[in-house]
Amino acid sequence: MKITIIGTGYVGSVTGACLADLGNEITCLDIDKEKIEKFSKGIIPIYEPGLSDLVKRNVREKRLCFTTDSKKAIQSSDVIFIAVGTPSNEDGSVDMKYVESAARDIGKYMNGYKVIVDKSTVPVGTADKLKNIINDAQKEKHEFDLVSNPEFLREGEAIKDFMNPDRIVIGVENGKAKSMMLDIYKGIERTGRPILVTNIKTSEMIKYASNAMLATRISFMNELARLCEKTGADIKMVAKGMGLDSRIGPRFLQAGVGYGGSCFPKDVKGIIDTGKEYGVEMKIVKAVDKVNEEQKKWILPKIEKELEDLKGKNIAIWGLAFKPKTDDMREAPSITIIEGLQKKGAKITAFDPEAEHVAKKILKNVAYVNDPYKAVEGADALVVVTEWDEFRNLDLEKIGLLMKKPVIFDGRNIYEPEEMKKAGFVYYGIGR
Ligand code: NAD
Repeated sequence: MKITIIGTGYVGSVTGACLADLGNEITCLDIDKEKIEKFSKGIIPIYEPGLSDLVKRNVREKRLCFTTDSKKAIQSSDVIFIAVGTPSNEDGSVDMKYVESAARDIGKYMNGYKVIVDKSTVPVGTADKLKNIINDAQKEKHEFDLVSNPEFLREGEAIKDFMNPDRIVIGVENGKAKSMMLDIYKGIERTGRPILVTNIKTSEMIKYASNAMLATRISFMNELARLCEKTGADIKMVAKGMGLDSRIGPRFLQAGVGYGGSCFPKDVKGIIDTGKEYGVEMKIVKAVDKVNEEQKKWILPKIEKELEDLKGKNIAIWGLAFKPKTDDMREAPSITIIEGLQKKGAKITAFDPEAEHVAKKILKNVAYVNDPYKAVEGADALVVVTEWDEFRNLDLEKIGLLMKKPVIFDGRNIYEPEEMKKAGFVYYGIGR
């Protein structure tokens, strides 16, 4: 099938490369010229394991190409995916300008029947609005169907998640569009992955509901962690004990310095805003958001108390990306933590295996180093912000000797308090 993907970011590039690998002819379209030039040359501007090989292979096999030419990209395909960003506005509502602009381009250039698939995360009711935008932008009238097909991939695991998803959700109103969608995903369905076909609004809602639920689990555990700290319980064991209950399960029960990234924060705010629009106060999700905003700052007074005065103190930060195996820094807790420490006069030295190039654009007056040991040289304290695997098995003795004072704030509970104390560290975890 000939498919165009509008938006070549984390989701669009992975969707394009994976659908090409499944045998479709894919055009990836973006307004960012630099990004498209890089992709065309086989240079992948984002860090996503496995993406580089997949892109190169499919470009070589002529199933995948990249362009900034909207007209050509839209006219050459029967199916058009929208995978542009949907960030938050200042007031928490969803900024729809990129999706709306993509819809206008589709309307303007379409030259025959198209299936238009929204993969961007959009508030329930968006498909109806997009239909109007496309109709208004059409110069000549052409039939089209709108489909909602939200994406659930996780950055860092994106290709595995796309090819082997827990489920594929398709919101559709028309038999022809439904059979085209099932055709696109038949290679994945054959591997036994379930496809859930619903109406469009239900599909749009499933995406927000899923992210809000996952964020709820995290904020719930972070709130419990605060109670554990006060009572002497250990949140890690509490999570283990809870997770062994098959009704609860072990995932998304890790306490830490809060969730970040391009999805949970904005989607939680987005569903609160949709509730407001329809007169339904989303009380639980509002609390989830509030707990997370507090949690990102939770560690700051602890550091200040331990070091007494932060002015001129050297603080090492391990991990800048919002989670391991990505270079994505959107809404990363490291930003809140580093800016909070800098405000009190601390000097920051930071290491992240992949996110330094992105962090440099966001965080100023930070000394970036390319090795975790270099980061701790002469440090008054180390703060672990992102749980990259490579931080788990480092030489503790060496770290202790390199630091001015062996003080660790383990924002992701990757170490065991007793072991750290035995190794001579002053250790602070979250909720233990
Ligand atoms: P992104 O910011 O990485 O990429 C978006 C791309 O769209 C950018 O390259 C931008 O230049 C391009 N773009 C914007 N307007 C355009 C237009 N009119 N025409 C062509 N290109 C245009 O975003 P992302 O992280 O890939 O997210 C895309 C959508 O998928 C969002 O709605 C997000 O919520 C959702 N989503 C993201 C993830 C994730 O892990 N990143 C997971 C699931 C769903």
